[in-house]
Amino acid sequence: LQTDSDVVKRESESISSRSLRGNAEKFEFQAEVSRLMDIIINSLYSNKDIFLRELISNASDALDKIRFLSLTDKEVLGEGDTAKLEIQIKLDKEKKILSLRDRGIGMTKEDLIKNLGTIAKSGTSAFVEKMQTSGDLNLIGQFGVGFYSVYLVADYVEVISKHNDDKQYVWESKADGAFAISEDTWNEPLGRGTEIRLHLREEAQEYLEESKLKELVKKYSEFINFPIYIWATKE
Ligand code: ADP
Ligand code: MG
Repeated sequence: LQTDSDVVKRESESISSRSLRGNAEKFEFQAEVSRLMDIIINSLYSNKDIFLRELISNASDALDKIRFLSLTDKEVLGEGDTAKLEIQIKLDKEKKILSLRDRGIGMTKEDLIKNLGTIAKSGTSAFVEKMQTSGDLNLIGQFGVGFYSVYLVADYVEVISKHNDDKQYVWESKADGAFAISEDTWNEPLGRGTEIRLHLREEAQEYLEESKLKELVKKYSEFINFPIYIWATKE
């Protein structure tokens, strides 16, 4: 069972004023993470494609982790589709959502709280400092904060995750200093793994084009050892 007693939990003005699901708990981003997100949101950096490289890299890491565990315990893989070590990308033009799903190790509730917002990695302040001078946003992954590059293209992000040791949870944030975590009682069960849903900004709708995504996946999957599938809703 998970406990989040060691995680600082604070009410957030901005998120509590929105209508959230009944069971949502609100958290503030650690200050340096919040600063990093502001920089990304307001960045004039033109090579926004890199967010996909970071998401594919995280999915691949998560798949590596479950594959490694499965070497000593086959049971961890589960059955059916859940056992398939793959990455799926879906383009929903109607809802303007790009989603990336992996059948990797997933994140417990505590993992979501710690890894995506409350515990700043050592690279966070180093990267913020770099960006304030003449840093190249392209290097974000090397500072261990690649996930936040999703806010180059999205203004609202949901992370749905299921780890073998916990229930399914949703992390969500509009990058307004806070995020919320809810037990997921409404989405399809993932079995195991993580689905990142990017609600794309108006100026980032090009990432719903199948041809654009195919080109990017080809570029960023060169060293990825898992299959990547792309689905697009018909127009
Ligand atoms: P890094 O990958 O360098 O650790 P990121 O900012 O890209 O930094 O990701 C932060 C952390 O969030 C990861 O270390 C991992 O623990 C967690 N994470 C991100 N994406 C996933 C995913 N798809 N599956 C499982 N954990 C993830
Ligand atoms: Mg990463």
